[in-house]
Parts: sequence; C-alpha cells; structure tokens
Amino acid sequence: MNEEKLLELDKVGQSYTSGARTFVAVQDVSLTVQAGEFVALLGPSGCGKSTLLRVITGLQRPTSGAVLYRGRLLRGVNPHATIVFQTFALFPWLSVVDNVEIALKARGITADIRGPRAVELLDRVGLDGFENAYPRELSGGMRQKVGFARAMAVEPELLCLDEPFSALDVLSAESLRSDLLELWTSGNIPTQAILLVTHNIEEAVLMASRIVVMDKEPGRIIADLANPLPYPRRRKEAAFVQLVDQVYGLLAGQTQPEHIEAGTAPGEAGRTRSLPPIAIQDLAGLLEHMNVVATPQIDIYQLAGDLALSLDHLLSLLDAVELLGFATIVQGDVTLTPLGKSFVEAGILGRKELFAARIRRLPIFQWLFALLRAAEPHQLEGSVVKAALELEFPPDAAERQLSALVNWGRYAEVLTYDDSNELLALEPEMAGADLSVA
Ligand code: ADP
Repeated sequence: MNEEKLLELDKVGQSYTSGARTFVAVQDVSLTVQAGEFVALLGPSGCGKSTLLRVITGLQRPTSGAVLYRGRLLRGVNPHATIVFQTFALFPWLSVVDNVEIALKARGITADIRGPRAVELLDRVGLDGFENAYPRELSGGMRQKVGFARAMAVEPELLCLDEPFSALDVLSAESLRSDLLELWTSGNIPTQAILLVTHNIEEAVLMASRIVVMDKEPGRIIADLANPLPYPRRRKEAAFVQLVDQVYGLLAGQTQPEHIEAGTAPGEAGRTRSLPPIAIQDLAGLLEHMNVVATPQIDIYQLAGDLALSLDHLLSLLDAVELLGFATIVQGDVTLTPLGKSFVEAGILGRKELFAARIRRLPIFQWLFALLRAAEPHQLEGSVVKAALELEFPPDAAERQLSALVNWGRYAEVLTYDDSNELLALEPEMAGADLSVA
C-alpha cells in the first residue's frame, strides 16, 4: 500500500476547566497515520484515548495544537473518519439490512442501489441470512458486525474503533477480531487506515501494524512501536509474547526513588501522586502470589496471565505496591522487596501496622492528617476534604481519592469514617501522635 499521510496530530493538547482549576487531559500529542497502517492506541483508562478519538473525528476541538487531514487543517466533523463504538447503537425498530441502508441513505445513495449494497456489506461481515432479523434477535457479536457493516457503508478512509470488542464475550470477541483482520488484510474494503483504541495489550499485538502506547496524568504518548509480525499472528509464538511483554514493561514503568514515587501533597508544587483505586485484599492477594512464585523477579506479562486481571486492574495494583515500597518494577519485571515480604508473612495486625507505617510516609496522607489535626475535634466532613482535594484533582478524581484515602486509612486503623454523617476523623491515638515521619 502507498504511504500517503492521512492524519496528522501536531502537539495536540486538551484541557478541561473545573471551577478555577484547569486539568490537562492530553498533553502534546503528535501522531501521524499513513494509508496502509493499522494503528492501535493503547493505554490505561483515563490516558485520553477517547478524547483523542473525538479530536481526530472532529467531534471536539482540541485546546491547543492542530489536527490535519490529508494536509488540511480539520475544521468541524471529519468527513473521512467514522467511529465504531464499544456498543454500536443500532435502531431496534429497523431490521439488520435497514440499519445498514440508513447509512447509505445518509450518503445520498439512491434507493435502487441501497438495498443490494447493504446486502453485500452484510455478506462481507458474515451476516448473510440475517438481513431481515431485528437487532434483538442477534447476539452481541452479531450486532457489532452490523455496526461494522454500517461503518463500512460510509466508506471511511479512516476507520476508528473505540474498544469495539470489550463488551463482547471472549469467543465472540476473538472471532470478530479475526473477521475484521481478514477484511483488512484482504484489501476488500475501501478503508485506508484503521485506528483501534484499546486497553488490551494482546489485542493490539494481534491486530495492529503499529502500537502507540499512552500513559496518564497527563495523557501522553510514551512509545510508538512497529509491529512487523506477519499475519496470521499466533499468541503463543515467541516474538508475539516478547512484544506483549515489552508493552507491559512500558506501561508499568520503572520504580522511581521513593521521594519521586510518593509525589507531593495537594497544594504543594509538583505532582500529587494519586492513590490507585484498589481493594486492600487484592493487593494482599497479589503480594501473596508473588511470594509463592519460585523466582524473585516475575514477568508482569506472566503475572497478568496467572491472575487473569484486566490491564487497568493490574496496573493499579502494581502502582500501589510500588508506592508502598512492597515491590519494585524494573524493565517489565516485578520483585517483592523485603518490606513486601514482611507484609505477606505478617499476621492480620502485623500487616495493618506495616501498612499504617507506610502510608504515614505519603505526602497526601500527611496533608490529610494535618488538616484533621487542625480541625476541632479532629474531624471533618467528607465534602470538605473533597473540596480541598479538588484544588489538585478534577472533581471525579477527587471523589476517587477521598474514597481511597478512607479505605486505606480505615484498613490501617488511622482514620475513621462514619457513613451516616459523612464525618472523617483521626483515630484517637493518631490525633495526639507525632506525625513526623520516623
Ligand atoms: P480514556 O479514553 O483513555 O479512558 P478519556 O479521554 O476518557 O480517557 O479521559 C482522559 C482524561 O480527561 C480523564 O482524566 C477524564 O476524567 C478527563 N475528561 C474526559 N472528558 C472530560 C470532560 N468532558 N470534562 C472533564 N474531564 C474530562
């Protein structure tokens, strides 16, 4: 295929304003997509994948930077790009064929051509025989195929797929991935390039010719990898596994020195490290698993497979164990630290004590303790703490931080929270304690 430049993002930035604060959702994203490329945009939730898709399709104008399509500045909706969403909204009162015809009608195609063309598109995605069925009669995978047929009816040059397989069961997702790959590699569709948004690493390695890896806070590109593996790709092949492993390593990052990992307190200069939204029992489960595995260093890819965790869940847990100093991550391998081992091997109370000692070192907890100590009688309404957190985090993130502070603080027995009056308080022994870090 030719190497025509279709899409070009030049230093695209997207900020959202909430009250007096501005939050950077996407920072300085530069990306070019050429004809013939199948690009996977991969990253954890919140790294700005959907924002970028909206910007690319012209549904949203970025705060800074430029979007060019075929060298021209994009103004308004991009007529050359179409999005297939996670769950494609079919019209339930229209038959399958009518659901596809409606897209052809919108393009001004005459009635005599529309019918046969819709049937042909449905045939191409493997839905012949179901033309007259209604969406409710179809499985999730089949409905998504109608979505693909409808997207193709638009004949987009750039087909954007927003996690199109994530709402499907494992088998339907796998068969739909093969069907899409077959359509793409056969060159039977007018689509010139595909941009697949996903947070499934194996899916990206299975399908894409290029993998763009993003990270969050702020959303940005951290790597852009070519995937030269020939189709059909096999998940068990060494080169496949190696690439998956490499991407896990990129996403999990490297453990930084403690003062950098811990971040700063809200309101202070520097980045406040957000507490990952995890359940303490999951964190304990992960550490227990690591403690019984024979090798001291464990491949993150291996860990994901052993524990069958979603990427987001695994990255959040790794974030938490790093933050607490229970494990370190170096080049895609995670290693339990002596502190992590002590935690796993301690009893219930011993674990709580160790956990409490670790969170007392974190600037965000020190900040919260100081707020509560300054209050009389050492308690505050959750909404007051949330408002204070909003100086640093967007409102939805502030809510999640409050809930993480409460969960971690309750487990460590340093905080109490009363759901009935929403009062957050220091445990009595903490109220008078010396809060400086030992
Ligand atoms: P992803 O698709 O990778 O999960 P999003 O593009 O949805 O990421 O979001 C990126 C960041 O921008 C997140 O922190 C999210 O909370 C924030 N965000 C997205 N849309 C809005 C909006 N309309 N207003 C405020 N913040 C938003």
